[in-house]
Amino acid sequence: MRSYDVLIVGGGPAGSSAAWKLTRGGADVLVLDRERFPRLKLCAGWITPEVVRDLQIDIASYPHRFLTFSRLHVHLKGLHLRAPCVQHSIRRFEFDAWLLERSGAPVVQHNVHNIRVETGGYVIDDAFRCRYLIGAGGTRCPVYRTLFRELNPRMSELQVVALEHELEYEWKDPDCHLWFFDKGLPGYSWYVPKQNGWLNVGIGGMAERMKSRRRDIKDHWSIFTGMLGRSLAVGAVCEPAGYSYYLRGRADVVRRDNAFIAGDAA
Ligand SMILES: Cc1cc2nc3c(=O)[nH]c(=O)nc-3n(C[C@H](O)[C@H](O)[C@H](O)COP(=O)(O)OP(=O)(O)OC[C@H]3O[C@@H](n4cnc5c(N)ncnc54)[C@H](O)[C@@H]3O)c2cc1C
Repeated sequence: MRSYDVLIVGGGPAGSSAAWKLTRGGADVLVLDRERFPRLKLCAGWITPEVVRDLQIDIASYPHRFLTFSRLHVHLKGLHLRAPCVQHSIRRFEFDAWLLERSGAPVVQHNVHNIRVETGGYVIDDAFRCRYLIGAGGTRCPVYRTLFRELNPRMSELQVVALEHELEYEWKDPDCHLWFFDKGLPGYSWYVPKQNGWLNVGIGGMAERMKSRRRDIKDHWSIFTGMLGRSLAVGAVCEPAGYSYYLRGRADVVRRDNAFIAGDAA
């Protein structure tokens, strides 16, 4: 069995950021992720200047697609508001793999199933032992499930269902657009262009509210992509993939002994 100071479950932005900091501090870290990177992550890929600052990203030397938009369009109940901004888009497929590689931590492709607490640490699937354990496995993180679920139960009223598609498309409008509560959607939809002819479009809504209104997210998707096909994305063929996650509720406990949760796991 291999032993480490720190095992991190999940190599998305939360896991790779933890790995980056810990590795730079001299810790012996291993990242476990069930996927091989680069991996698909459903996400609009909008990042704020704060993300760029906190992750100390030198935009000039970032080797993948990076687009800065200087204007944000907000569509709300028939109103169209334009606001100047400095915001960015990346492709998560590229960004997450780059962050993980930059962390300098070794990564093993492994789907974590079983976590056992033992004196002085944790044992994962009888294959990896560590003193500190970080759960950064997203919404379905096994560290959250095993050690934190009862302390921080998910609140069903905060569950969001989302559909999105990232496609190669020669967009004409380089700005970002958001539509709030359009056609009864209890949430919002987006148009986020990426550098060099990529585009991300998607919608997300509160699951319980849609259910109570007997509306399916797919109905909203048809309305949304119909509107895009007549305006910002003429001729685009949008084939969505779905995901569900929880908005941030009260995460009262993010540390339990030497185990931690971060990112969507928290
Ligand atoms: C449709 C959609 C659009 C979004 N748009 C934006 C946006 O524009 N901007 C923004 O900032 N945020 C956006 N978000 C939110 C953002 O994607 C998440 O908050 C972010 O990815 C969380 O990062 P994370 O590292 O916690 O988890 P993740 O990025 O989900 O990474 C978790 C990792 O854990 C691994 N893992 C899971 N289970 C196991 C296991 N059992 N064993 C081993 N590995 C495991 C997974 O393979 C994955 O690589 C969006 C989310 C969705 C769903």
